[in-house]
Amino acid sequence: MVYDKNNVFYKILQSEIPSRRIYEDDLVLVFHDINPVCKIHALVITKGLYMDFHDFVSKTSPEETRAFFRAVATVAELLEIDKSGYRIISNIGKDSRQEIQHFHVHILGGEQLG
Ligand code: AMP
Repeated sequence: MVYDKNNVFYKILQSEIPSRRIYEDDLVLVFHDINPVCKIHALVITKGLYMDFHDFVSKTSPEETRAFFRAVATVAELLEIDKSGYRIISNIGKDSRQEIQHFHVHILGGEQLG
């Protein structure tokens, strides 16, 4: 499989479709999920073009990996859920029901999660 630019997150990166941005740096973009499943639901995406976690891990650099996970922590602090706690999830492939084929992590929090 190869990365297909015809996906929503690529279009968000290109600013072809809007998003409610929370954080951005040279390597990472974070925005609110359009269909939140709890009080705080953010999506952390790489600016690099990877289909999923496995694709990311096999091709990324240490610098990009550090930036990605640093962004997760930074956003948790910005949204003030770093003390109360939160969950990070990445759906990978068909059985996980990954909907958008651009690597991302969900940040869920702001309330007690089920
Ligand atoms: P996944 O199943 O892990 O691929 O999750 C994709 C997530 O992207 C879902 O939680 C959707 O609600 C979210 N989503 C889809 N389109 C948009 C959009 N235009 N802006 C923000 N989030 C979106």
